[in-house]
Amino acid sequence: MRILVHTCCGPCLAGTLHTLKDKDVTAFFYNPNIHPWTEYKRRMEALSTFCEQRSIPLTVDDSYDLDTFFAEAVKDSGYGKRCLPCYRLRLACAAKEAKQKGFDAFTTTLLVSPYQLHDQIANLGAEISEETGVPFHYVDARPYFRQGQRDAKEAGLYMQKYCGCIYSEFERYR
Ligand code: SF4
Repeated sequence: MRILVHTCCGPCLAGTLHTLKDKDVTAFFYNPNIHPWTEYKRRMEALSTFCEQRSIPLTVDDSYDLDTFFAEAVKDSGYGKRCLPCYRLRLACAAKEAKQKGFDAFTTTLLVSPYQLHDQIANLGAEISEETGVPFHYVDARPYFRQGQRDAKEAGLYMQKYCGCIYSEFERYR
């Protein structure tokens, strides 16, 4: 199965890969939720390094449409509320890319994190699959989160300290 994996960062891809050993994986980076721009670039470069090390094809949508992200996030910027449109924005973009490029399915590394709203991500994946006709490959990758962190450290990757958006940076360091 050729699968397009929406990828938020290298460490989360490292964990998710443990659940995709029998799949033909392409990573897809589209994350206008990562702020500021320098942090976004740093995470993208770490992912690129990791993909080179593992010989994983990487596609980047570098459009970084901040306006689209904030237009939804500011409607209710509380933790959890802002995350649903953030997930949808990124998953919908991945599904569109998967459809255009003829992948058999799409999924996301967001499913590896115990800090994300796992069930809502699974539901959104199923909804977007219905809308686009591209199968969503659901997997509970959370048991591999810590292993992925260890893999990423061994690979010398940058390890971020907050989820991504400026709200999450504020909550982390306040
Ligand atoms: S906390 Fe993370 S998932 Fe939620 S809106 Fe911010 S970047 Fe997106």
